[in-house]
Amino acid sequence: MIVLFAERIRFFDTTLRDGEQTPGVSLSPDKKLKIATKLADIGVHVIEVGSAAASEGERQAIRLIADAGLTAEICTYVRATRGDIDYAADYGADSVHLVIPVSDLHIQKKLRKTREDVMRMALEGVTYAKERGLIVELSGEDASRADQDYVFRVFSNGVEAGADRLCFCDTVGFLTPERTREIIPRLSIAPLSIHCHDDFGFALANTIAALQSGASCAHATINGLGERAGNTPFEELVMNLEILYGQKTGIKTEEIFSLATLVSHLTGVPLPTNKAIVGEMAFTHESGVHTHGVLRDASTYEPVKPELVGRKRRIMLGKHSGTASVAAALVEHDYHPSEVQLKEIVTRIKGIGDEGKRITDADLLAVADAVLNLERKPVLSLQQFTVVSGSNVIPTASVILTVHGEEITNASTGAGPVDAAIGALRRSVADVAEIRLEDYHVDAITGGTDALVEVTVKLSKDGKIITSRGARTDIIMASVEAVIAGMNRLLREEHEDRSKNPG
Ligand code: MN
Repeated sequence: MIVLFAERIRFFDTTLRDGEQTPGVSLSPDKKLKIATKLADIGVHVIEVGSAAASEGERQAIRLIADAGLTAEICTYVRATRGDIDYAADYGADSVHLVIPVSDLHIQKKLRKTREDVMRMALEGVTYAKERGLIVELSGEDASRADQDYVFRVFSNGVEAGADRLCFCDTVGFLTPERTREIIPRLSIAPLSIHCHDDFGFALANTIAALQSGASCAHATINGLGERAGNTPFEELVMNLEILYGQKTGIKTEEIFSLATLVSHLTGVPLPTNKAIVGEMAFTHESGVHTHGVLRDASTYEPVKPELVGRKRRIMLGKHSGTASVAAALVEHDYHPSEVQLKEIVTRIKGIGDEGKRITDADLLAVADAVLNLERKPVLSLQQFTVVSGSNVIPTASVILTVHGEEITNASTGAGPVDAAIGALRRSVADVAEIRLEDYHVDAITGGTDALVEVTVKLSKDGKIITSRGARTDIIMASVEAVIAGMNRLLREEHEDRSKNPG
């Protein structure tokens, strides 16, 4: 029997447990609290905050998050041992994700036990966790490669022993949507979660298939973090359900992008540029045909409205750009060239694009200034710059700048020399404007330590965003150059009225 979506789909987020098991990722308790707070705010129902037995830091995180009074249920991963379950209860978790291996492969090779042993462990674990007052989600690890009759017995006995919920784990991403539809209905004897991995790129499809077949809760992680190829990405799952399947999820979708960015920053795992929903390019257009279409009616090439996930459309300029997109970008910066001038600007932009370069806002405006014959006095110019870094010193940068003709000296320390340099620059203009660094990106153009380094930055002031670039063999100077170019543009904007410019 096929049951379509449960009336209310629940979300169990495991960014802080399975997501943290992404190789190289480790989150301190306060970082976990930041992410958990945002997860609760966005509307996630259960947050798995870690593995109680893993370390003292993990337990401190459980305590910290459990005490924060979040609206979500706070859960922790435990094995079926009294020690693990005691940790969960003692550190304030509401619930346990009680995981037991159910495939013969895991039972025999990993645990060197028998099915009967594991069944007993599972039931004792459930009984003890209930005694300790915890909500129990009994989870079958590697369930997709297990004997389904055995999984069914573990689940039924588990529910009889007091398990509140069940979870089917496709631990190595072995399911297909077809197989999911076959297996899941029979196992939905209690509220059932589905936990998928993306080893074959099917995590999302399998999760949706399970939710259509009787599962009512989806395990997911922000940005699809997780062991190996990761888990079902929360942002894709939510938008799929909302838009392709018309299911109201109750998730505050407009917070999705800021949550994705927060998790990326705190875990240090960058967002793949072409990732669905949250990747940099997901709402960026360059080609002339697409841009032209989007400017006329966004739905022509945008299946999701960017605002719906808290994003903005970006028109990127390059060799594929047409006149419409260049004109649109110029209007955004308050430039109003004549038709002839616009044609010349487009030709020059395509020329830069042909050299294989990404065109920043500062590049576009420099071209426009040249074509419109505008003499621009920079608001800000660098007189002197020094940076100290090494072992046993706090990286420190000092700058002398002229800002609106006035000489300003400032200094800053930082996490590294680039951080210190940018800090000193931001301080120097702090009296005039609050400029924030939104993004920082480095490319080495050639190999070797004498390579030309290209730094692209995204700066913002009162919501206005500008991209600019610096290219030097010295990475710190390339960063300084990029930031000064961007600051000049942002500061100049407010003192000029380009509509009065010739042309
Ligand atoms: Mn997993």
